[in-house]
Amino acid sequence: MEILKTKSEMNNWSKNKKKESKTICLVPTMGYLHKGHISLVEKGKPLCDELVLSIFVNPAQFGPNEDLNSYPSNIKNDLALAQKAGVTAVFLPEKGNIYPENFQTKVALQHLPGFLCGKFRPVHFAGVATVVTKLFNIVMPDIAVFGQKDYQQLQIIRQLTLDLDFNINIVAGDIIREKDGLAMSSRNTYLSGPQRVSALSLSKSLNLARELIAGGETNPYTIKNRLERLIRSFAETNIEYICFCDPQTLEDMEKIDRQVLLAMAVNVGKTRLIDNALINPSQ
Ligand code: AMP
Repeated sequence: MEILKTKSEMNNWSKNKKKESKTICLVPTMGYLHKGHISLVEKGKPLCDELVLSIFVNPAQFGPNEDLNSYPSNIKNDLALAQKAGVTAVFLPEKGNIYPENFQTKVALQHLPGFLCGKFRPVHFAGVATVVTKLFNIVMPDIAVFGQKDYQQLQIIRQLTLDLDFNINIVAGDIIREKDGLAMSSRNTYLSGPQRVSALSLSKSLNLARELIAGGETNPYTIKNRLERLIRSFAETNIEYICFCDPQTLEDMEKIDRQVLLAMAVNVGKTRLIDNALINPSQ
């Protein structure tokens, strides 16, 4: 496994692979790898000759009061996990290499960031779109894998790829969960013992929504009320949003009469957790 620390090293590596007619798959991450990240590697590996994992905590996607400075990191462990998973190259750039002095450009979508997390994190998706555009140009992948855990991000990347004419196949990976249902996240490490219990309120409320919808409930407001009550029954929870929306446009759905995306963000203590599920109503 090669470790490439600058964008020129990375780009030259990719150019050489392309000369050898090798296909490249990219899995972008912010590190502190867990089984969710590794599942994306496993998804991408059979689809390509070379698998590049990038690790970069992108400052542009953090708001001023967010956790950029405390974001967890363990590069040694990440490299060991990447190697074990069969990654061929790790792209591990420094901040100054990605955003040199006098960097000025922003990639921003007009519509999709106006929903869900984007309403509460106004700079986040422009930061994501900018860094992903740069990663696509630097790594030149044929395929890139993103997790459905960050559903809105996935939709934004799909749109960006289309709008900016990247010839890259965007592949989605399922949400990987702990045995008790908590969606894996690097940020779960922030949770205290009691908060870890409260963090289950997200996956439990997704399950409750599935049950209600399977039982024929089609009114999103009725279900939302039930979910709010469930989540608030757990200590230290503070709901940011719960939305029932169209899986493509992310616009609110008034009636659940077709597949719906249920997405939520809940603060547990100071830790912001997100989760989602695509739910089909009973026929
Ligand atoms: P992050 O390091 O949090 O920026 O995530 C990097 C990639 O891993 C993104 O495409 C995420 O959607 C994906 N990811 C994060 N958590 C999970 C999970 N629990 N299951 C599957 N993919 C995940």
